[in-house]
Amino acid sequence: MALKCELCKEKIEETFLGKIVGSYVIINGKKKVVCNSCQKKNKHFKDELL
Ligand SMILES: [Zn+2]
Repeated sequence: MALKCELCKEKIEETFLGKIVGSYVIINGKKKVVCNSCQKKNKHFKDELL
């Protein structure tokens, strides 16, 4: 399953544990996935803990 950052469209890698190298956040009421660098630039995003 290839995930892409919703903001910069970079591919989001997965670790060997199956965790994404990024975060799920809620943007405009929808669950989105963003990469670590975009999340750092957009600290107002609400993390969704899974
Ligand atoms: Zn990004």
